Amino acid sequence: MSDCIFCKIASGEIKTPLIYSNDIVVAFHDINPQAPKHILVVPKEHIKTINDLHEKPGLSAALMNACIEVAKITGLDKDGYRIVANCGEKAGQSVWHLHFHVLGGRPMKWPPG
Ligand code: AMP
Repeated sequence: MSDCIFCKIASGEIKTPLIYSNDIVVAFHDINPQAPKHILVVPKEHIKTINDLHEKPGLSAALMNACIEVAKITGLDKDGYRIVANCGEKAGQSVWHLHFHVLGGRPMKWPPG
């Protein structure tokens, strides 16, 4: 999608240091971090929300594996972390290109706000 910020990051049109990438996903630091470590894991393909994932067999596993890889690369696998996908306006989704937040480096509260 021509006006999608995450498509532009994934394609390299907007230069962003990548924590991790493969054929299917890219991962990079959130511009407005909510924890000392806050990384976004994003499919290269434009998919609007997590609701659309069921049409893409295999992609869920690829995204989850990328989140786990990011946790390992950043050391969060030892420390503890949270994976979040906001789906829809009420949940706080603000970028309409599917992404998983990988957050850690501080104690987390439950329930989330
Ligand atoms: P959500 O509110 O769940 O849709 O999450 C979108 C996230 O994208 C927010 O945490 C933003 O801070 C982050 N974000 C928006 N634009 C950029 C960007 N150019 N680079 C990195 N993160 C971004």
